[in-house]
Amino acid sequence: MKRPDDDSAGNTIPILMYHSVSDTAAASIRGLSVRPKAFAEQVAYLANNGFTGLTFGELCRLRRSGEPLPQRPVVLTFDDGYADLVEEALPVLTSHGFPATVFITTGWLDDAGQRAAGTPPDRMLTWRQLAVLEQAGVEIGAHSHSHPQLDQIPVKQLRAELADPKSLLEDRLGHTVATLAYPYGYSSRRVREMSLELGYRNGAGVANGIASPGSDPFRVPRLTVRLSTPINRFAETVNQQRIGVNYAPTRALTAGYAVVRRSRSALRAMRDSTHRS
Ligand SMILES: [Zn+2]
Repeated sequence: MKRPDDDSAGNTIPILMYHSVSDTAAASIRGLSVRPKAFAEQVAYLANNGFTGLTFGELCRLRRSGEPLPQRPVVLTFDDGYADLVEEALPVLTSHGFPATVFITTGWLDDAGQRAAGTPPDRMLTWRQLAVLEQAGVEIGAHSHSHPQLDQIPVKQLRAELADPKSLLEDRLGHTVATLAYPYGYSSRRVREMSLELGYRNGAGVANGIASPGSDPFRVPRLTVRLSTPINRFAETVNQQRIGVNYAPTRALTAGYAVVRRSRSALRAMRDSTHRS
């Protein structure tokens, strides 16, 4: 068998990032959606090839405690909280006994009511469905309140975007919520430090790399699964093969865009300090 790209094989874990599982995803998120048929094929592949599913929080807890990981661990995560998670993905996960983690943008929930914020890209989950998911073994994590680029907003807004979903979810679910994923995968040192200060224990980014024991608990990389991901490429990804090649274009794009965003951010900081002085 081919060795994974990373020589710390056995300790590295593919953490997959999904969004919508639907044949009719909204245009703005279509590229990041996966068809229900493809999703079923992917989960069946994992089940038939001896993979063990973990939630994101469980993986982080095992890492902290140093306990051994199960055979061929894999983590499935879903961002934003699309309604099709219950309708399409959950029956597949349940039939194969796979857990998952969903990162919820609380202001986007279908029945967010007075706390509604931002613009949900598609039909979203309801508060009641979060309880259903949790009972079925899906971990609920936070994904900000209104889905801004957390590294680009003023500190007061940042605090609210991190604290509000945590307290809303905790009030409703009745237990601590300590995992989050940054919208678009964007974080900065300030974002990560404030997440820790507010009681989160782990943060998931995107980065399209493999998570290793040395990964910063607030910069855990995930691998995007998208509409254009064929099953053979999915298999390479979860077997940790050809990650660098398969994800090279997105990596380059992300890196390039990061430079633009950093300089914008620096400009804004300069402007702010000029205004203050
Ligand atoms: Zn998102």
